[in-house]
Amino acid sequence: MTSAHDDLRALVRTIPDFPKSGIKFRDITTLLLDPAGFARTIDALATTVEGPVDLVAAVEARGFAIGGALAVKLGAGLLLIRKDGKLPGATIAEDYALEYGTDRLAMHVDACAPGAKVLIVDDLLATGGTALAAARLIRRAGGELVGARFVIDLPELGGSEALSDAGIGVASLMN
Ligand code: AMP
Repeated sequence: MTSAHDDLRALVRTIPDFPKSGIKFRDITTLLLDPAGFARTIDALATTVEGPVDLVAAVEARGFAIGGALAVKLGAGLLLIRKDGKLPGATIAEDYALEYGTDRLAMHVDACAPGAKVLIVDDLLATGGTALAAARLIRRAGGELVGARFVIDLPELGGSEALSDAGIGVASLMN
């Protein structure tokens, strides 16, 4: 799958030492600025999805851009998973570790009907901590996870294996 998306890979910018020294930040804002590249990204992600999806669960913030467009393409609703303290209604929350720090994710407690088929979407998979926290939220709400999709996977950080171990099928467009 990876080599087929060299055109998309070329639209991702790498910023060294952001947000801290030693991190190579893979910046998809340049891909989002390219109308054809953005559209091809959403089309390519949609082709990796088999079976019905009721909700795309998108993780703040770059996941909103990818997840929102993919939800429309799939005919699914969009479930926003945000940093704790941002959502106005009653929430459930889960702590998680990032490649660079720790944080807490939240979702509205009534956002996911029990049994809803939910696809997690974010821009990038590193350790998998973020996606696993999102998965715990969805499972606590009674949602049925049908997979997780990313534009970029950093395979050396083990996120794909961690998600597979949790029973979540992963696909991404580039490593
Ligand atoms: P992780 O929880 O370790 O899988 O980290 C994934 C989350 O952190 C995603 O929301 C990414 O947007 C962000 N992230 C982690 N590492 C990077 C990186 N090297 N470049 C861009 N975003 C990153």
